This record gives sequence, structure tokens and C-alpha cells, in this order.
Amino acid sequence: MTALLAELQRRKSEADPSELRHLRLLQDYRRTITGDYQAALGDAMALVEQAPEPELKYRAALLITNISALNRDYLTGLRYLDRALMLRERVTDAGLRQTSMGVAGTIYNEFGHFDMALAEAERALAEQPDPRNRCFARQVRVRALNGLGRSLDEDSDVHEAIADCAAQREPIAVNAIRATLADYWARTGRRRQAIALLEASLPEAVGTGYTRLVGELRQLLAQYQLEEGDLAAAHAQATAIVRDRGIDANSLAGVVAQRVLYTVALKRGDIAGALDHYRRYAQADKARLDDIKSREYAFQLSRHELNKKNQSIALLSNQNQLLRLQQEVAKRTAWNFRLIVALLVVLAASVSYWGWRARRTHGWLRQLAETDSLTGLSNRRDFRARSEAALLACSQQARPVSMLLLDLDHFKQINDQCGHSSGDWVLREVARVGRLHCREGDLYGRIGGEEFAMTLIDCDVDAALRIAEQCRRSIADIDANAAGCALPVATSIGVVGSSMSGYDYEALIAHADAAMYRSKVAGRNRVSLYQPPPVPEAGHGLHFDGRDASAMLKEY
Ligand code: GH3
Ligand code: MG
Ligand code: MG
Repeated sequence: MTALLAELQRRKSEADPSELRHLRLLQDYRRTITGDYQAALGDAMALVEQAPEPELKYRAALLITNISALNRDYLTGLRYLDRALMLRERVTDAGLRQTSMGVAGTIYNEFGHFDMALAEAERALAEQPDPRNRCFARQVRVRALNGLGRSLDEDSDVHEAIADCAAQREPIAVNAIRATLADYWARTGRRRQAIALLEASLPEAVGTGYTRLVGELRQLLAQYQLEEGDLAAAHAQATAIVRDRGIDANSLAGVVAQRVLYTVALKRGDIAGALDHYRRYAQADKARLDDIKSREYAFQLSRHELNKKNQSIALLSNQNQLLRLQQEVAKRTAWNFRLIVALLVVLAASVSYWGWRARRTHGWLRQLAETDSLTGLSNRRDFRARSEAALLACSQQARPVSMLLLDLDHFKQINDQCGHSSGDWVLREVARVGRLHCREGDLYGRIGGEEFAMTLIDCDVDAALRIAEQCRRSIADIDANAAGCALPVATSIGVVGSSMSGYDYEALIAHADAAMYRSKVAGRNRVSLYQPPPVPEAGHGLHFDGRDASAMLKEY
């Protein structure tokens, strides 16, 4: 491992920051093995604080826990154990996760918090760990159950655990479970059986070189042998403990060993020896109790810190939830606002759409009401309305206005001989060519079946007569052959001006009609100016004489 680490160290320049951090942790493991605890601790603590990788933090925290336990710095150990346990959920490797359950369970058992140890073991076992982790979890579980004073199911709780650990070649775990079983037997009245088991296990335990385990086995043996009255055997085990430099004098094994030696000396009447061992026993016991007290204090303190941390985490998560809720409310408010805006937009759009539709329909209906559908000209009603408005305006400014009335000649014949559609075609043509002679502001309408009228603005009668003549010619030029009709198209036109008839529409149209009639009478296809009736001479009253009347009738 050292060579491999040296090789890695040499190729450090090729590593990325994350790989460098992993290399640091490996070096911390190596320092721990070589006993350089302080350097390992310092660096591992820095890794826990700085590394972004949860797994690396977790491994470093567990390493600190182990080093601190070795140093009897229980508070630091528990603090980092708690950190490792908090990081555990983020560790994806199940085996690595279960390791911390083993570490935590072992420490809790050591501290006498068997319920917590049992919980860790059960938790690890629930994850269906690999055989090695299962061995450790079962070992923790058996010890916790025994510590809690529960009765053990020897087959499932103990022997299966031993078989698991034996299969994994974990003699320390195997013999730790045996020690637990021996303790269980002893407290359930099977002391001899316990002694036999411990004696059988001792050589293998010694073979592991793990002095703590050896100390535990010997301590139990010495205790039971003493209780069985086998002073020599008890003395031998206690002496072996005291002589083992690896076993702490203030550990449970050390304390029990002195107590056994003192009792044996007393029973043998060796008062001086008894006093000496008693003194050592009292000293060790006091030191151990102090150690237990500081351990328990560390434990309670770390629990308190953990609770505080959990409370602040809970508080934080409550605050977070509150924030989330506030954000949600804000989001919903914004959403509602957008919804309202969208609704308003839709509403406004549909209102304007329906308004537009209504206006369009209205415009369409109005156009329908105002327009002659065949020719697209103003119909009679619209022509009259527009003309009246124009006449009013012109009368106020004394602008001349003229009116033309056109009636197609023998139109009935066109209909009769060429068909109604040819007649329609002729009507549309008359509308079209008539428009050519209108200026802007002039009004043109179809006021009857084959009758048209024009209101010419700013147009005196002379101009009106010229326009009427142009119209007549254009209409006479219409070739109905295009509509399959060989008949000629012609029109009779009557002309009147505001200078003769004023600005009253009714008067103007009536006079234009009278003039048009004059054209008919005169042989059609011609233009006639309105002729006001002669002013009656004095004495004749208001009625026409017979000659004038008959002349007029003849004209008509
Ligand atoms: P005159 O020269 O005396 O005016 O004779 P005329 O045949 O033009 O007069 P009359 O009033 O006898 O006939 C008008 C005809 O116009 C009768 C009607 O069938 C026709 N007419 C009216 N409106 C329309 C229409 O919209 N389309 C067609 N094709 N014919 C129409
Ligand atoms: Mg007519
Ligand atoms: Mg006609």
C-alpha cells in the first residue's frame, strides 16, 4: 500500500482536484495506521469541511470517528459520527453506507446505549447487506440485545452470526460474539458452559493479536472462575491481563483483573497482596468511572448538539417551506393576474371582434339598404337622401346644382326580345358609362327600373346639358350584341338646374322628369331642358287656356 501511495504521490500532477482529494484521504488512512493520528485528524477534518464529494466527506468523517475513539476523544468521535450519519443518505454505495451503521452500532454498544446500537444494526440488516457487513451488523445486534438484557435465540441470533463471520474469516467478530454468548450464559445460570466456551475461544482470540478482545475474554473468564471458586485459574487470567501491556489498566478488563487479584489474595490470606491489589483496583475503577462519566458527558453533549442541529434543520426546512409557499402564492398570484389579463384580452378581442362584426354587418346592411344590387349605384332612397344633403349645402353657398333624369327608351323591348338577363346587362352598362361622366361629388343613382338620375354639383344648366348629351351618346354607343341582343340602346334625358327650379329635391326631380318626358315625346334618344310653364297673363287667372293646355298635352 505504501508503494502504491508513493506511486500515486509521484503522479500527482496528472490528477484532477477530486482525485487529489481522494489521494489525501488515502494518505490519512496510512497516517492512522502508522500512528500519526494528529496529522491524519487535521487533514481529514479539512476534507470533511471542504470536499464537495459527499462520499469522500463521509469516509473522512468515519476515519475521524475511529481515530477519536482510539484517542478517547469521545466528543469529537461522536460529533463526526453524527456528521457521517447525516451524510449517509447521500452515499450511493450500499456497502459503504452500512459501514457507518457498524461503526455507530459498535460505539453505541461501547457507550452502553444498546437501544441505539440495536437500531443501527437492524437498519443495516434491513438493507440486506453483503456477508461481511451482515457479520458486523449481527455482531452489533447480538451485543445490543444482550446489553438490553433480552433473551437470545441462540440459533438465529448467535450461531448464524458466528457462521457468517467465520465464513468471512473475521475471527475478531466470531470471538466477540462468543464472548457475548458466554456473558449471556453466565447471566442465565450457565456459568460453566460459559467458561468452557471462553476457554475454547481464547487461543483463537489471542491469535488475532487484538488485545481488547483478549482482555474481554480473560476478564470474563477470571470473573466466572472466581465465582466458581477456581482461584488458581481466575488468578492466572487476571495476571495475564495485568501483564498484557496492550490492555489499558483503567479499562473494564484492567479493573476486573485487580478486583479478582485482590479477592484471590484475600481468600488466600495474603493481606499485603490484597491491599496492594485493592489499592490498584480502587484507582483503576475510579479512573474508569471518570472515563465513563466523560464519555457519557460527551455522549449527552453530542446528542444535545445533534438535537439542536436537527431543530435548526427542521426550522430551516420550515422556513424553506414557508418560502416555497410564499413563492407558490406569488406564482399563483402572477398566474391569476396573467389569467385575468388573458381573459381581458380575450374579452376585449371578442368585444372588438363582435363590434367589428356588428359594424361590418351594419355597414353591410346599410350598403344593402343604400345600394342597388344590380348596378352598384345608389338606390332611389339613398340617392334622394344624398341629393337633399348636397342641395342643402349648395343652397347655403348659392352654388349651382343641376339634375339629370334618364329613362331608357323602349327598354321593355330589350327585355321582351333579348331576355331579362340582356336587360340586366344593359342596365349595368348604363350605370358604368354614366359614372364616366360624373365628377367627384356628383351623385348618380338608379331611381326606378330603367330610370337613372344624376345630381351634378357646381354645375349650371349649360354644363349640365353638355354632360347630358355626352351621357346620351355614350349610352347610344352601348353595343348590346355583347349580351346577345341586336337591339339598339338609347335613352331620353331631362335636364333641370337650381337656377330654374331652386334647391328642393322634389321640385328638381319632378321638373327633370317633365323635361325627360319632353324628350320622349320629341322622339326619344335626346336631351331636353326643363321648360317652366309660362307665367299666366293678367285676367286669365291661374288656369291655362284651352290652346296652351292642348299644346302642352301634345308636347307630353
Ligand atoms: P319607353 O321608351 O316609353 O320608356 O318604353 P319602355 O319599354 O322603356 O318603358 P316601360 O315602362 O314600358 O318598360 C320598362 C321596362 O323595364 C319594364 C320592366 O320589365 C323593365 N325593367 C324594370 N326593371 C328592370 C330590371 O331590373 N331588369 C330588367 N331586365 N328589366 C327591368
Ligand atoms: Mg320608365
Ligand atoms: Mg323606358
